[in-house]
Amino acid sequence: QVSTAYEVPTVADQAALGATARPDTLYSRFGSPTVRDFEAAVADLEGAEAALASASGMAAITSLVFGLCSAGDHVVASRQIFSVTYAVLAMHLPRFGIDVSLVDGTDAEAIAAAVKPGRTQLILVETPANPALSLVDLEALAAIKGPIKVVDNTFATPVGQRPLEHGVDLVLHSATKGIAGHNDALIGVVAGSTDLIDAIWAWHGAMGAQASPFDAWNALRGIRTLPVRVARQAETALRLAELLEGHDAVESVSYPFLPSHPQHDLARRQMDNGGTVVAFEVAGGAAGAMALSERSRLGRIALSLGGPETLLTHPATFAARLLPSERAEIGITDGLIRMSVGLEHPDDLAADLLQALDSLG
Ligand SMILES: *Cc1c(COP(=O)(O)O)cnc(C)c1O
Repeated sequence: QVSTAYEVPTVADQAALGATARPDTLYSRFGSPTVRDFEAAVADLEGAEAALASASGMAAITSLVFGLCSAGDHVVASRQIFSVTYAVLAMHLPRFGIDVSLVDGTDAEAIAAAVKPGRTQLILVETPANPALSLVDLEALAAIKGPIKVVDNTFATPVGQRPLEHGVDLVLHSATKGIAGHNDALIGVVAGSTDLIDAIWAWHGAMGAQASPFDAWNALRGIRTLPVRVARQAETALRLAELLEGHDAVESVSYPFLPSHPQHDLARRQMDNGGTVVAFEVAGGAAGAMALSERSRLGRIALSLGGPETLLTHPATFAARLLPSERAEIGITDGLIRMSVGLEHPDDLAADLLQALDSLG
């Protein structure tokens, strides 16, 4: 349903629509039927009262931050976070008089200690975090009193983890990734209580951050196969993580369901699977990482995740504007590769990865 305008029988009907929050048949910047169907599906998957879809994952993040915070407020965020979110937090919010504290997300006490009572409006974390897959303890996060707790759940998808069940207030996704799942929709979504979603919507409509109906349509198509895709991709990801861990050309592997992950127990407590992404460090630094990416025949060099094709990303290349110390803080080393595991046959992926690794020796 791609209309932008909706005919109603009387002016009174139009006035009634205008008086409701998030009308879906008034004017499409305020909401539209296909976008509404997508929002309802995500709310269902996350166990939320309501959801609001945006033009991208970043539009979901900026809508919620600017919708809920004002000058003088304070935001606490995990520093292990998607690099563009990091830029919003570190560079843009201070321009609007919103203070930000970036803390180690793996340390729940550090998150709690950074809260300024009466001033901290939001806590924003990502778990598993892009790109090195560190985790935030959701129960401990939910137990922090005062601020609105927000989790970027893009990497887990609602099939792998449902943060609202642990007591946090809002969950958001770059649905561009696993939820839409086919590299053909740019769309974000935030889900939580009706009160919070309505408050975000007021700003979101003014900003013009509305999701396109075409992208919502593609994202709904993606949701139909989400559980099957994630189950298969996570199973393959674990197998490839084990293969990587046993190879001499690999210095370290991060995957939440590997026993060697420093937060493995937490992963087993709060996640239903280890996710579809594996992060690993190739020997030989940036040159090793680039050689492996180029020698892999099935893994494509591309910048997204959660789709049907296996994608290899070299985060250090894309975080080049960060200082080396900042890159280290968010877990980006020169040899790091972020592998989004696709739906290719697991035997083919394993064989391809092995030939690429062996060629490095
Ligand atoms: C990609 C991504 C985003 C941004 O989403 P877009 O849809 O690209 O705007 C936010 N958070 C995480 C964890 C991401 O991977």
